[in-house]
Amino acid sequence: MEFSAIVVAAGEGVRAGPGGPKTWRTLGGRPILRWSVEAMLAAGARQVVVVVAPDRLGELARALSGLEGWISVGGGATRTASVQAGLLPINTRHAVLVHDAARPFLAPDHVARLLTALDTAPAATLALPVADTLKRGEAGRIISTVDREGLWRAQTPQAFAPGVLQTALSVTGSDQSPTDDVALIERQGLTAALVAGDPLLMKLTYPEDFEMAERLAGGQRLSRIGQGVDAHRFGPGDHVWLCGVRIPHNQGLIGHSDADAGLHALTDAILGAVGEGDIGQHFPPSDPQWRGAASDRFLTHAASLVAARGGRIINVDITLVCERPRIGPHREAMRARLAEILALPLDRVSVKATTTEGMGFTGREEGVLAQAVAIVETP
Ligand code: MG
Repeated sequence: MEFSAIVVAAGEGVRAGPGGPKTWRTLGGRPILRWSVEAMLAAGARQVVVVVAPDRLGELARALSGLEGWISVGGGATRTASVQAGLLPINTRHAVLVHDAARPFLAPDHVARLLTALDTAPAATLALPVADTLKRGEAGRIISTVDREGLWRAQTPQAFAPGVLQTALSVTGSDQSPTDDVALIERQGLTAALVAGDPLLMKLTYPEDFEMAERLAGGQRLSRIGQGVDAHRFGPGDHVWLCGVRIPHNQGLIGHSDADAGLHALTDAILGAVGEGDIGQHFPPSDPQWRGAASDRFLTHAASLVAARGGRIINVDITLVCERPRIGPHREAMRARLAEILALPLDRVSVKATTTEGMGFTGREEGVLAQAVAIVETP
């Protein structure tokens, strides 16, 4: 069955506490409403109509940049008015799924279950049986215990066979606004199906919900590895820079910048982990502004590209290959400097050194070779 989706994000979410309207906050590095739009598109929605407050249409375009297949409409004063506005552009031959943007953990499987239910019912909602004992209370005291038998918690999406929601809304006054949409067709005497919901589809309502969601979102983060290699040749000089530390030596390292092979290898490793090319693309050797530059800034730039994706560097490991200078006496200073540049705890930064036993260009003391790996975690 072909379907389209309405993602409702018009509310201001006053119960969620400070931090702005809840669906505009980020979760795992993405705006919360983007999670639902991506999920609906992934599930095969023909059209996704996103309903937001009219003054946020510009912000929505930024929040959903890079996605195709959605349109936006300005919402109304009530939930029903917002759904009504979202329904207008939708093809009447499509089934319609209405979803709260505040439920970000939507998966294609949820959508598939609802569409199956529409084979035999005019509407369907995801719902969970009430497991807790229910109390009716007043002023902090229990008035009575409510029998939970037969009670369900309605979630979203809620699904409607083609034309059903349009008909229900045409007979609903805009002043009537139930807290869910299936209630509209219940009023018409139609029977909607209960479809097994999912605790993960929780609605982010209170401040503590966001903490839990962030932990769940963390479980969906991606670990990525990058590696880098660099070498620089010895030449005249009285010191070398390696891993951000100045080491007195009877030669220098030749390069366009400060020739810090350790930082260059690590910069490439981090760029590699996020698929951002290599150091030469970001800082072309042909560009005179990088002549003699301290390589810290290359590393800082790579780290900022990770942060810009909502990612973080987990750990880095560098191996320096040379006969001289001896690295051991400087190893801890190098780790400390790298940890400082990357704002990482010291135990996530490793610097190792080895020689090639006199073999090859490092063995002949023609230059220094550096290798690095970095693990990066991104949404
Ligand atoms: Mg280099």
